[in-house]
Amino acid sequence: MNPILSIENLATSFHTDEGRIQAVSNVSFEVHKGKTLGLVGESGCGKSVTALSIMRLLPKPSGIIDSGRILFQGMDLAVLPAREMQSIRGKRIAMIFQEPMTALNPVHRIEKQLGEVFQIHFPEMGKKQKAEEVLSLLNRVGIPNPEGCAKAYPHQISGGMRQRVMIAMALAGKPEILIADEPTTALDVTIQAQILELIKSLQEETGMAVIFITHDLGVIAEVCDEVVVMYAGKIAEKARVKDLFYNPAHPYTQGLLSSIPRLDSKRKSKLSIIQGMVPNLADLPKGCRFENRCPMAMGLCKSEPPDILQIGDSHWVSCYLFEKGNRNE
Ligand code: SF4
Repeated sequence: MNPILSIENLATSFHTDEGRIQAVSNVSFEVHKGKTLGLVGESGCGKSVTALSIMRLLPKPSGIIDSGRILFQGMDLAVLPAREMQSIRGKRIAMIFQEPMTALNPVHRIEKQLGEVFQIHFPEMGKKQKAEEVLSLLNRVGIPNPEGCAKAYPHQISGGMRQRVMIAMALAGKPEILIADEPTTALDVTIQAQILELIKSLQEETGMAVIFITHDLGVIAEVCDEVVVMYAGKIAEKARVKDLFYNPAHPYTQGLLSSIPRLDSKRKSKLSIIQGMVPNLADLPKGCRFENRCPMAMGLCKSEPPDILQIGDSHWVSCYLFEKGNRNE
């Protein structure tokens, strides 16, 4: 199946007072219609910068796409003129964020804000139809009293409801791709489960592709088909979700997985943590970026960065342990 979105060798950097920060290096992955791809890693690993690069929403003028292609339906979004990008952003590719309060305008009622989104995407829509669409969308995202919610200001509804409103706004343009950046992190577990369920059911209904950004492997297991594990701006491993959980290859992925609690572990067994710190993106090491924390590091790891290697059907890893001659075969 042809991918709906192909990221090829994406590199994004920021120019800061301390110099140039290479936030994303050589990142490649594909997203397929109706499927969910998870981008996972610790904060600062480049997952949100990757999403902002796709949306061309990098902070200006410091954020720059240095190289690579972002192919969407025959267009390269990395170099698309700003005007054309405007007709894609929010409509064909939409994004929801962790904290809806930052995206909602506190001084306007929900109906006005959702109505404006329809106005942008469907300017030909009449006032009456717009009002009906607003209520129908609020209903679709599981808001129990759509009329009441439409009349409310953002601060008058709960965090879970605000996130549902954000999802409604993102869906208004009938996007082909939805990027969800930590959409449930600020919510309690029950609401989190409901929002994940909602995104899944809307995806089944519309066939849209979803890119789910999270630091939570539990969320990945719940909603994703494929996973890209990022570390210090690079891909450490990418695989189908089952392969990643049952057969993690990269020492970083193994570390992440052993740091999540398991139901079948003994009550007093300690969770392992990955020792050490993520390298400074303004002063990256010459070799593998995980070298200072890796229990398997070898001499070579310090001097040169490993290439990404295919180790199975749809399973890729960036680690010298998998190069010929280093494998335990
Ligand atoms: Fe560890 Fe070396 Fe593999 Fe990096 S390349 S993850 S340092 S073994």
